[in-house]
Amino acid sequence: MSFSDKDIAQFANLDTPFYYYDLTLLQKTLDACALAAKMSNFHVHYAMKANFNPTIVSRIKAVGFGADAVSGGEVGQAVELGFPANNIVFAGVGKSDKEINYALDQDIFCFNVESIQELEVINELAAKKGKTASVAIRINPNVDAHTHANITTGLDENKFGINSWDLPACADALRRLPNLQFVGIHFHIGSQITNLDVYKNLCVRVNEFATWFEERGFTVKVLNVGGGLGIDYHNPDQQIPDFGKYFKIFNDFLERKPSQEVHFELGRALVGQCSSLISKVLFVKNGKKKNFIILDAGMTELMRPALYQAYHQIQNISRPNTPIALNYDVVGPICESTDCFGKEVELPETFRNDLIAIRSTGAYGEVMSSHYNLRENVHVAFSE
Ligand SMILES: *Cc1c(COP(=O)(O)O)cnc(C)c1O
Repeated sequence: MSFSDKDIAQFANLDTPFYYYDLTLLQKTLDACALAAKMSNFHVHYAMKANFNPTIVSRIKAVGFGADAVSGGEVGQAVELGFPANNIVFAGVGKSDKEINYALDQDIFCFNVESIQELEVINELAAKKGKTASVAIRINPNVDAHTHANITTGLDENKFGINSWDLPACADALRRLPNLQFVGIHFHIGSQITNLDVYKNLCVRVNEFATWFEERGFTVKVLNVGGGLGIDYHNPDQQIPDFGKYFKIFNDFLERKPSQEVHFELGRALVGQCSSLISKVLFVKNGKKKNFIILDAGMTELMRPALYQAYHQIQNISRPNTPIALNYDVVGPICESTDCFGKEVELPETFRNDLIAIRSTGAYGEVMSSHYNLRENVHVAFSE
């Protein structure tokens, strides 16, 4: 998304800060993913936690993807927005009884189960309703995602999934518990993965675990390999991830039987580049050692930099033709020192009321906004 004069004229009339969504780019991204997935007959579920704005989610539903929910609230939103229940999966390391009961009532496609105790509880709650719950086992494959430690989920030390040494007990539970139907195995090893070799390593493990279950008499219908495909935060105008290359790895390295389905749960790669957070400069402080730009957006609107030192490209869109002149620390108004979007950011000389775009904010942006400091709801604008 680059900004036309028309965009910038329109921005002048909007209350800042706001998330600006480019629905044309979203559509192109979705179409590219859908086409690439279709070539290998892969199923894609959209990971709703990346962005649950109803306008965005409705577009995603319209291309025929399923939904991946990580809370009862997300299952509910998926149902409300019209995803067929048999295309909704429900993961999460701590599902409450209320959430499980709700998902059972909706007859979702499957629970991605993260512990043996959870298997027992789902079985018990399903039995009370006279139902059989479909379950996939989320396995922690101990594969390093080579991403930021705070968004790695598939190592032995992470809380997610069932570890390989617990699989015999897991298989026993599946045999013993009558109100469960085993449908397959599930993995999700982390987010913002840019080294695609990681996915080759994952495929090797998936093949091993699928064989392990098959050798014990289970039919593994679903291989769900999760999501995590990264985007290029340093080149926000590069825009559409190479879905073809990504899916090809799974096509080449997964030993898939004709009867097996391969499922993906993509979040960030689908929505990350279609948005920028637009903010206004409140003040410029020129210090002795540092210059500060103080924005009207803060960690309450975009938490990723404060939460995991995430990089977002920052542009002064009021001065597109002015050469880079100065280094600034670009900060928000919140009373926390981590409320900083970038240190030593090279920008043209910047003034009060300039508009600043923080790029690549479509994933884990608006959804993580909060009312800390009693801040207002962040605004939202869409362009076709
Ligand atoms: C967050 C999450 C995803 C999506 O991750 P992305 O990095 O946004 O693709 C997929 N599956 C599960 C279980 C998740 O928790």
